[in-house]
Amino acid sequence: MASSSEKAETSGSSENAGNSENSGNSKKVGNKIIRLVRGDITREEVDAIVNAANSTLMGGGGVDGAIHRAGGPQILEECKQIRAIQGPLPPGQAVITGGGKLKAQYVIHTVGPIWRNGSSNEEETLASAYRESLILAAQYELRTVSFPSISTGAYGFPLDKAAPIAVSTAHSFLQQDNSVEEVRFVLFDTFAFNEFQDALNAL
Ligand code: ADP
Repeated sequence: MASSSEKAETSGSSENAGNSENSGNSKKVGNKIIRLVRGDITREEVDAIVNAANSTLMGGGGVDGAIHRAGGPQILEECKQIRAIQGPLPPGQAVITGGGKLKAQYVIHTVGPIWRNGSSNEEETLASAYRESLILAAQYELRTVSFPSISTGAYGFPLDKAAPIAVSTAHSFLQQDNSVEEVRFVLFDTFAFNEFQDALNAL
């Protein structure tokens, strides 16, 4: 699929973590790491993957649909239970379910902001979606967490604005947390991957 000059790094492993310090695709944060990979988040072998859900928690298109398809009906069942207890999930918040049939043990569901030309506090809400997901991961003592690029699909958040928020929020979190060891951003396409690479290099 990928050309030789454009070889996709496959998901699921931390190979070379020890000697790839601050390469273009990763950045060490103390003894932890932020890593960029290209691929499908549903295939990640991590403690938790994060779902860019919508407030209904009832599934949707994009990465949300892919996660529910791959993980099976158990995830939706748990989402329904959460929804029955606490109602719709506001943007910037996060909840957790099991991973169903996924290799990941958990799915953290968060809701990013819909982009409205920056007039509605979207940047802070996006940061909150990443931060609250990581706080939940730490509460569950998870060590590896994979994120998609939240809000940059159907929700229209520009990637050049979203990527720096994503990586800097993860960076700040890792600097003060002692549970999460690896934050992975799993980018579906080259454009998103390149934007995240630029953002990581600029940290
Ligand atoms: P949102 O509604 O938060 O914008 P989308 O699912 O529409 O969420 O898009 C978020 C990002 O997830 C987009 O960059 C899209 O390309 C990406 N994406 C879609 N499917 C997958 C997948 N299986 N793995 C990783 N990323 C995905």
